[in-house]
Amino acid sequence: MPRVEADMGNADIMTAAPDGEYLAEVSAADYGQSKAKNWMVTLSYLLVDNPKFNGRTVRFDHAVVSGRDKNGKPVSTRTLYERLDACMVPYEHIAQSGGCGATTVGMNRVRKPDTGEIELQCSACNTALKGPVGFNTEDFLAKPVRVLLGHGEPNEETGEVFNTVERVMKR
Ligand SMILES: [Zn+2]
Repeated sequence: MPRVEADMGNADIMTAAPDGEYLAEVSAADYGQSKAKNWMVTLSYLLVDNPKFNGRTVRFDHAVVSGRDKNGKPVSTRTLYERLDACMVPYEHIAQSGGCGATTVGMNRVRKPDTGEIELQCSACNTALKGPVGFNTEDFLAKPVRVLLGHGEPNEETGEVFNTVERVMKR
């Protein structure tokens, strides 16, 4: 067994980047199941063009694709639609599910006058996206975005603080 000398001067606690907006690109897009058995896409972002946090990776941005909560209600897929739009990922508005059948990029954001909600519309047929859309997870990779970061509670045992992804926007 080799004897190892480690420099404890480099053992600083990993601190989160301050809350705010950062330039980033998508560095990973994994499709899998959550502990609650919901299918989701989990995105990671590499911070770029930042003197202090260049090269930092922010992980675990989950976007549910399909699943139900513990009360049996469908889980919102809003985050997934937001990420497809922000990352300019091509998506198919699936015809068998009532869509127009086109493959397009980006979505229209239309504020509904009655509720003030932002409706996301297919940019090919200009109707609200309600049913499923088809896309390839690898089309997320290397897409340039802006991310709005927040942070979670410090880990009770290690004291580390990790960033959370609050919002992803087009660049
Ligand atoms: Zn459409």
